[in-house]
This record gives sequence, C-alpha cells and structure tokens, in this order.
Amino acid sequence: MCNKRILVTGGAGFIGAHLCAKLLQQGHEVICLDNYFTGAKANVSSLLNNSRFELVRQDVTLPLHFEVDEIYNLACPASPVHYQYNPAKTTQTSVLGAIHVLELARFLKAKVLQASTSEVYGDPAIHPQDESYWGNVNPIGPRSCYDEGKRCAETLFFDYHRQYGVNSKVIRIFNTYGPLMNLADGRVVSNFIVQALQGQDITIYGDGTQTRSFCYVDDLVEGMIRMMATESDCIGPVNLGNPCELTMLKLAENVLRLTGSKSKLMFKALPQDDPRQRHPNIELAKSKLAWEPKVALEEGLQKTIAYFRKVLAVRSFREER
Ligand code: NAD
Ligand code: UDP
Repeated sequence: MCNKRILVTGGAGFIGAHLCAKLLQQGHEVICLDNYFTGAKANVSSLLNNSRFELVRQDVTLPLHFEVDEIYNLACPASPVHYQYNPAKTTQTSVLGAIHVLELARFLKAKVLQASTSEVYGDPAIHPQDESYWGNVNPIGPRSCYDEGKRCAETLFFDYHRQYGVNSKVIRIFNTYGPLMNLADGRVVSNFIVQALQGQDITIYGDGTQTRSFCYVDDLVEGMIRMMATESDCIGPVNLGNPCELTMLKLAENVLRLTGSKSKLMFKALPQDDPRQRHPNIELAKSKLAWEPKVALEEGLQKTIAYFRKVLAVRSFREER
C-alpha cells in the first residue's frame, strides 16, 4: 500500500483517536487537528512519539492550510449533552467545518470523507433505516443543531462533488462505543458502565423501551478506512453500524451482569425529540465495502468495561495521593 499524508479533524476525540492510531499502524503520516472541546491530548498521548504523527490545536470553523492526500472530517461534538451546550457553535462546526475541508480537498485534489450520522434520519418513520430514507428531523428542536448541521454538511459534500468534482465520501455512523470514550461523555454506554462500576444508580431516560444498535469502535474504523479506499464514483452515503438492536433497559441489564454491579435503575425524563428506535440497514456497506461488524455487543462491552475500570482505578489512586 502507498503511504499517504492524512488529516483527521476531531482526531483527539473518541473515534478520531482510534482512527489516527489505525492509520499510523498502516504506515501513513497523520495530522490530527482538534480544538479539545470534547477530545483530549491524552487520547493520542501514545501516538506523540511517532515521527509520522503531528498534533495541531485548531478549530475547523477557521480555514485550513495543510498539504495532505486525504481528509477525514470528524470534528464535531457527538454527545447530546455536549452538542447542546453551545448549539450555535455546533451548527457552525458542521457547516463551516465541511466548507473548509471541502475547499482544502478541492484545492489539493484530495479525497475527503465526512463522518455523518444516523441522526440525519431523526426519529425514523421507517425501520430499519436504509440510505434512501430522507429522515424525520425536527428543524427547530434541541437536537437540530447537530442533526441539521450534519444534514447541511452532507448537502455540501454532494454539491462540491457535482459542482467541482471533489472526490468526496459520506458515511452515516450509528451509535458507536468503546475505549477512549470520555468518563463524562454523557452517552448511554459510558454513562451506564461508569455508573455501574461506581455503584451509582443507572439513569434510564424515559421508560427505557427506546432502541439503539451499538457498533464497537474497531469495526467502525475499519469501515471508515474501506470507504475512503473506494473508487471516486462511490460517494455514499453509506450506513456504518451494527444491526444488533436492543432497548436501553436490555443494555442496562447487560452492563449490570457484565460488571457484577448491584446498582439500581433510576428513571428520568426522556429528552425532547429522543428517537424511539434506530437500526441500520447495512446491505450497501456489505456490497460496496465488503464490510460488516465482527465484534459482538457482549465482547465489545467487556473491552469497554475493562477500559473504564482502569481509568477509574487510576483516578482514585491519584485522589488518594
Ligand atoms: P467526540 O466528541 O469524542 O469527538 C469529536 C472531536 O471533535 C473531539 O475531539 C472534539 O474536541 C473535536 N471538535 C469538536 N468541535 C471542534 C471544532 N470546532 N474544531 C476542531 N475540533 C473540534 O465524538 P466521537 O464519538 O468521536 O465522534 C466523532 C465524529 O463521528 C463526530 O463528527 C460525530 O458526529 C460522528 N459520529 C459519532 C457517532 C458515535 O456514536 N460515536 C455516531 C454518529 C456520528
Ligand atoms: N440514555 C439513557 N440514559 C443515559 C444516557 C442516554 O437512557 O444516561 C438514552 C437516551 O435517551 C437515548 C439512548 O439512551 O434514548 C441513546 O442515547 P445517546 O446519548 O447515547 O445517543 P443518541 O441519543 O444520540 O443515539
């Protein structure tokens, strides 16, 4: 394989850090750009000694000047708690970020991949969701800054392709989890695991019958790299996710069993516009990328639990000193 120089925006975040590590492993040079809003240097600290790795503190809402062959655009807070903290900034990050990576790709004739999301389907009226579905998104609700920002970014990716011939690619990522999620990320898998390990109540929003389908991060990263490697006529969008769908109650049950925790369930209000169900149709990824997830939920949860056990142990050791 020919080695490339690759820009990963949002590279110090959860998925970005795994992607940077994998690209380095494959022999590429990686420039990781991040403003550390939800990411951290610590996520890529093990890569800092690698001479093919560079870390740059920058915001994607500012123009980008790099010489690269490929760009993965991941910069954007992904947890509802964080993307709703400064919603106007979240939309700017998706829209201006997309414009800046696309302008750079256009100038350099580089390939560019957008990390879009299953949230473009909103609270889906069809089930499972395939890529031909246009979605059911509230344009003015508390989640809209994320959903509509990502939808607009997809529009820009397709317009730059049609108008300027940019070699652009769009993947729609479904709920992904694994090591390197932030302790305070706020998403369901990390919340449940951290609560279970600390003996705190497990916070179920609503009655817990809403569903999601969870993909382990290694599987996702493999799919992203395969999408980038496709021919220039394969633009997407392509769903990447694990079709194994379950309710949040069932997820809580699994986490309690695997951690051996005695935590109790605590029911809290369901956030506005929380999608009722989510389940990817991945037939397109199977046929175009020869990709499907390999890591079962049980195995992925065990690895993630082991990671959080270590993080919590280090934290309590530091607090004791
Ligand atoms: P994350 O919050 O851990 O990572 C996002 C990264 O982007 C962080 O490092 C953050 O500091 C950085 N960032 C945010 N705003 C920025 C800005 N303006 N300029 C530069 N950097 C900025 O989230 P993640 O789960 O790793 O998600 C990565 C990408 O994948 C996001 O674009 C997200 O929308 C997408 N995605 C993730 C999931 C999932 O389940 N994890 C699902 C669908 C889509
Ligand atoms: N959720 C929950 N308890 C939590 C965090 C989330 O029950 O502590 C629910 C949330 O309401 C949603 C599902 O879990 O129905 C997935 O939430 P997450 O924030 O992980 O992702 P998203 O809603 O963006 O799919």
